[in-house]
Amino acid sequence: MNLHELTIHEAHDLLKKREISSVELTTAILDRIGQIDEKVDALLTVTDELAMVQAQKADELFKTGEVTPLTGIPAIIKDNMCTRGTRTTCSSKMLENFVPPYNATAVEKLKLQGIVMMGKSNMDEFGMGSSTENSAFYPTRNPWDRDRVPGGSSGGSAVSVASDETIFALGSDTGGSIRQPSGFCSVVGLKPTYGRVSRFGLVAFASSLEQIGPITKDVTDAALVLNAIAGHDEKDSTTVPHPVPDYTQSLIPDVKGLRLGIPREYFVEGMEEGVKQTIETAISKLEELGATVEETSLPSSKYALSVYYIIAPSEASANLARYNGVKYGFSFQEADSMWDAMEKTRQYGFGPEVKRRIMLGTYALSAGYYDAYYLKAQKVRTLIRQEFDQTFEKFDALITPTSPTVPFKIGEKMEDPMQMYLADVCTLPINIAGIPGICVPAGFVDGLPVGMQILAKSFAEETLLRIAYAYEQTTDWHKQNPPI
Ligand code: GLN
Repeated sequence: MNLHELTIHEAHDLLKKREISSVELTTAILDRIGQIDEKVDALLTVTDELAMVQAQKADELFKTGEVTPLTGIPAIIKDNMCTRGTRTTCSSKMLENFVPPYNATAVEKLKLQGIVMMGKSNMDEFGMGSSTENSAFYPTRNPWDRDRVPGGSSGGSAVSVASDETIFALGSDTGGSIRQPSGFCSVVGLKPTYGRVSRFGLVAFASSLEQIGPITKDVTDAALVLNAIAGHDEKDSTTVPHPVPDYTQSLIPDVKGLRLGIPREYFVEGMEEGVKQTIETAISKLEELGATVEETSLPSSKYALSVYYIIAPSEASANLARYNGVKYGFSFQEADSMWDAMEKTRQYGFGPEVKRRIMLGTYALSAGYYDAYYLKAQKVRTLIRQEFDQTFEKFDALITPTSPTVPFKIGEKMEDPMQMYLADVCTLPINIAGIPGICVPAGFVDGLPVGMQILAKSFAEETLLRIAYAYEQTTDWHKQNPPI
């Protein structure tokens, strides 16, 4: 048995029976990181010493019997979540040496459950991108084909799970950043409902759109991690005080009678034929399992990309105003004046995509353009949301591809931002509406992964998990290992 290949629930069973220790598991994972990471560049920081201390603590807990399903389990955290005492860079030069004095709530909750933090993962700078090529440090490679991108912006997290450099990871999703890389790497990624998981300590990119969520090897693990991180947080007033159900109760292999809608707009023009066929096969499988399937339409979804690229950059331009070299992060020192220092700090501290977004957002929010762009985008956002609400009166869930293509070549879309933005056409509308979405492995085209996206109404993560679990039980896509 290769310890690094275990899922959370498999590892937990062995830990509980004392057949393995967390120190053994952690050592196996550290060895794996040592062998593999130079091939895929998924990680920015490996916290090996901290991990060994936490693993020893976890083993103590197993002796006293006070454990949770996550005690002693190795985890990787996306590098935009604050980790006390551990560098948190957002893959930006701006925060290259930033060490937060506190933990993000999601990280703190995992810590209270006894996880072992292995390190921090590479990402597109501040979450802006779909390929992890916008990292200020290095691009991450897809383990299924190392000439291809792993998706983004949580590319490092998805790759670390797919390559068994961790047992699970946390990602964040503003427009697809958990689901799209999960699809590209053949792992499970869940974006919770807006307000389900605290954003406290998540470095802000577009605050009205983003959520933290699990990236795991299977659906059971996604439920276990969601159990741990969901819930109201007084440090984030956008979290909702709904009770957190035990999501593992939804893991029943039965979709009989569930009504599934297939929104035709998500089978977009230019979509790869292999992806389309793979998703159609997966839908037939769900039909065989007893769900009813019917085509439906979400006509306003076609505006989601335009709406997103007004709202997200607008929020980013405000959120990123804090990086001026005064309070924290990179600071340009050899300037002539205070203004010159701020200008140069931002000029040298931010990468090109981040600057593009700040300019877009500043423009959309400026007097004279605000009504035409930002306000209009907000109105269309309401329409998109209402359309989802109406659709969910008729359907329990919607099924779509996660991305219109398989993973593309490194460098292929870097010169053409519009092409890069289109990688998220199927995932962006979900953040606009605030609803939850999960991506599960659905097969391969010429050895490259395809992800299926399942959507449900707000706070219906249980429906997503049930459908995803039932589907997973009939396939073995999630058990296949990349050729590294
Ligand atoms: N790719 C999208 C963007 O660049 C979404 C990224 C994300 O979800 N963080 O904005």
